[in-house]
This record gives sequence, C-alpha cells and structure tokens, in this order.
Amino acid sequence: MTHNMHQQFLAYERAVRLSGETYKGMSGAERSFRSIAARDLEEHSPSDQNTPTCAGCDGAAWPCDTARGAMSLADPHTN
Ligand SMILES: [Zn+2]
Repeated sequence: MTHNMHQQFLAYERAVRLSGETYKGMSGAERSFRSIAARDLEEHSPSDQNTPTCAGCDGAAWPCDTARGAMSLADPHTN
C-alpha cells in the first residue's frame, strides 16, 4: 500500500465517522450534507486495502469521484 493510498483510507474512515455524527448547533444544511455523504460513502466503499476498486462504480479504481466528493462533503474542514 502506498503512503498516499493509506492517507485515502484514513480520510475515508474519518469521513464515515464524521458523516454519522451530529453536534450541538449543527445547521440543517450540514446535517443533510452529512446524510448524503454517509449514503455515498457506503455505496462507494473500497473493495480491499491493497488495490481497492469501488463497490459502487462497477470495479472502477477507488477512490472514485463520488467517494472523493463524499469525503470532502463529510468533513467541513476540507471544504
Ligand atoms: Zn464509486
């Protein structure tokens, strides 16, 4: 696994965790962004840790555009 791919897995795990969280004072918009992100992250999950392909994109290389978009959607600090 390359360093970069390791970073992608960490980002994915972080996004999955964040997309399931709510916090006090969270806006309705952010809540809905995160619920969309949670669904996309689940549908566009990596197949394995070594040469991951996207479960939602019929074998395309992971992270696909949808997975990348969902990761940034779930984490407001990267937006
Ligand atoms: Zn995908």
